[in-house]
Amino acid sequence: MYSNTDFRAFYRRVYGIIDGLTPVPGDCGRLCDKACCKGPDSKGMLLFPNEESALDISQFNIIKSPKGLVAVCNGTCERHNRPLACRMFPFFPRLFDDGKIRVVYDMRAMSICPIVAYPETIKPDRRFLRAVRHAGRVLVSLPDCRKFIKAVSDELVLLNKFEPMKFEGIAARFR
Ligand code: SF4
Ligand code: SF4
Repeated sequence: MYSNTDFRAFYRRVYGIIDGLTPVPGDCGRLCDKACCKGPDSKGMLLFPNEESALDISQFNIIKSPKGLVAVCNGTCERHNRPLACRMFPFFPRLFDDGKIRVVYDMRAMSICPIVAYPETIKPDRRFLRAVRHAGRVLVSLPDCRKFIKAVSDELVLLNKFEPMKFEGIAARFR
């Protein structure tokens, strides 16, 4: 268990689980000209609870939102300093009602990411999916992170009402 002062170490450990892996083999940015790094200035990445402790926040505009802190970038970053949301994108370790973590498409990415929009054509790298699942299992060991993941999971369930096949499809393969 990590104490309040260990968040940097905690998130660095989580980052390390995914480091070196990408959603699909190769550089998926070539599929879309890095669409996920080109959002409007008003958007940004929702940070996990206390994740700001692990980042050089001078590289972001940090704003408060009802869901937590949001890190807004200018479309470039030092790779080692990108938030967890960017590292797991376009997937999310959903917490299911049985208490298990399963990796699902993050339907919030539907409008910008071809990996989510064309799941039958673009196959994700299973090693990446396993790493996201592993990261999720570590994250839920902290009560605040568990609460955060549950809230996002509930949001994804709502969004998935419009795309049930994609959502449950990926979950089914990672039970
Ligand atoms: S939008 Fe999707 S395909 Fe494009 S760079 Fe981001 S994760 Fe890769
Ligand atoms: S922090 Fe980096 S990886 Fe994340 S959206 Fe900005 S430029 Fe892209």
